Amino acid sequence: MTTQSTPAVSPERRQQVAAALHAVLPPTCVLSAPEDTRPYECDGLSAYRQLPMIVVLPASEEQVLAVLDVCRRLHVPIVPRGAGTGLSGGAMPIADGVVLSTARLNKIVRLDAYSRMAVVQPGVRNLAISEAAAPYGLYYAPDPSSQIACTIGGNVAENSGGVHCLKYGLTVHNVLRVRMATIEGDIVELGSEAPDAPGLDLLAAFIGSEGMLGIVLEVTVKLVPKPAAARVIMASFDDVTAGGNAVADVIAAGIIPAGLEMMDRTSSRMVEPFVRAGYDTEAAAILLCEADGTAAEVEEEITRMAAVLRAAGAGAIAVSTSEAERLKFWSGRKNAFPAAGRISPDYYCMDGTIPRKHLARVLQGIAAMEHKHGLRCANVFHAGDGNLHPLILFDANQPDELRRAEAFGADILALCVEVGGTITGEHGVGIEKIDSMCVQFTAAELNAFFALKRAFDPLSLLNPDKAIPTLNRCAEFGKMRVTGGVLPHPDLPRF
Ligand SMILES: Cc1cc2nc3c(=O)[nH]c(=O)nc-3n(C[C@H](O)[C@H](O)[C@H](O)COP(=O)(O)OP(=O)(O)OC[C@H]3O[C@@H](n4cnc5c(N)ncnc54)[C@H](O)[C@@H]3O)c2cc1C
Repeated sequence: MTTQSTPAVSPERRQQVAAALHAVLPPTCVLSAPEDTRPYECDGLSAYRQLPMIVVLPASEEQVLAVLDVCRRLHVPIVPRGAGTGLSGGAMPIADGVVLSTARLNKIVRLDAYSRMAVVQPGVRNLAISEAAAPYGLYYAPDPSSQIACTIGGNVAENSGGVHCLKYGLTVHNVLRVRMATIEGDIVELGSEAPDAPGLDLLAAFIGSEGMLGIVLEVTVKLVPKPAAARVIMASFDDVTAGGNAVADVIAAGIIPAGLEMMDRTSSRMVEPFVRAGYDTEAAAILLCEADGTAAEVEEEITRMAAVLRAAGAGAIAVSTSEAERLKFWSGRKNAFPAAGRISPDYYCMDGTIPRKHLARVLQGIAAMEHKHGLRCANVFHAGDGNLHPLILFDANQPDELRRAEAFGADILALCVEVGGTITGEHGVGIEKIDSMCVQFTAAELNAFFALKRAFDPLSLLNPDKAIPTLNRCAEFGKMRVTGGVLPHPDLPRF
């Protein structure tokens, strides 16, 4: 476990900021005692922890604006936080900063079944939107496996995905409008309820900006009709290469499944005793391929997918015969991350995306890295999107294992870039992948990202030191050329 070594905050400073926040918020909305702030010390990337100076829990837009005003005047960094399920350390606190939790901003403001949209506050849970829409035969399509807990504000900040995103798109494709507060205290509306909005498409720039550009206050999401029918195929492969190639074959056949997920043997063996989903634990890889639509569409697509999978070398093929069985097949996939806790004290979840045609090559590369770093890795991922989630298994109590897990993760991301992919798929960069940004982007590109951040947040108070590395950091990481002791863009800020 790594606790960040930022300078301690002086009691005077803590008192000054707490007093200013108490002046604008009810007493129960400000937490400063360590026993109260401890639950906020990390997000889902629990290997890294940091106690915040103060946590605030505003219950209205006015209170959010008041917090921003205090923090701007006193120059206090702010880390926005939803449910804290993020896996890249995006919501990890800063020692001299305030964590702004949206837990109390959790109302569904309006659900318009006729226009198929819902307006919700940022702290509303992802699944709560679909639950509210269910009586109208509608649901919110992006479905992170954490959907029971994660919030729409966090989903917007991370541009989250999920099993259904292959067919229905990521958060960015399912959000019509975001109402957000700038650090200056202005309320800005990005996008509109119409399919397009005038001006630059800042909504697309904002979605995925990891809490660095503004605080999400309200989100208008699209709702889609719940399909009349859905069935899932579970196909076993006796080698990972054939499984990886089968994924590319399904898409090449012109089929867009409602979900196309892959688990390797380590994953299915880790999950099966936990959920008893009926997985073939002898198979080197299993694929879960879902078809949805009308009953006739589903039958036709299942038949076509099964034929492609057989031709690609699938051994056993099972097709769900009831809704209960469909959910059982998915239950293992959805619970894969928690199941990792059964076989390893800690796991480090990577998230890179690659062109589908390179799935087999990258999975073989990861297998070779297991030997190089002396650690096991379970692969369970959104194969149809080429979005890998290697779970590197380690024990933080063993000297050097966290460092080796980090090096393993960095090698995987470098391989993703090498085959034409990216260092993130849906979990964001946060602190976890900040060094790998130096592998993916040039100095000029990083400069452009900083320019965008400065345009929204000139004082760099919103989630600073996350997601965009400084050139100094890249130089230290060994991925930026330093000539004669001088960086190419010394003018770039050291946030
Ligand atoms: C078991 C498990 C499974 C997961 N499965 C998936 C998956 O399938 N797909 C996927 O995409 N992710 C997945 N995740 C990751 C995570 O759930 C998502 O990134 C999710 O969107 C985070 O939401 P949150 O509310 O927990 O946000 P947090 O973790 O609290 O915050 C995430 C980021 O959003 C920012 N933020 C939060 N609220 C706001 C706001 N109101 N305004 C501005 N910025 C804000 C934070 O500063 C931080 O940078 C999984 C996580 C776990 C633990």
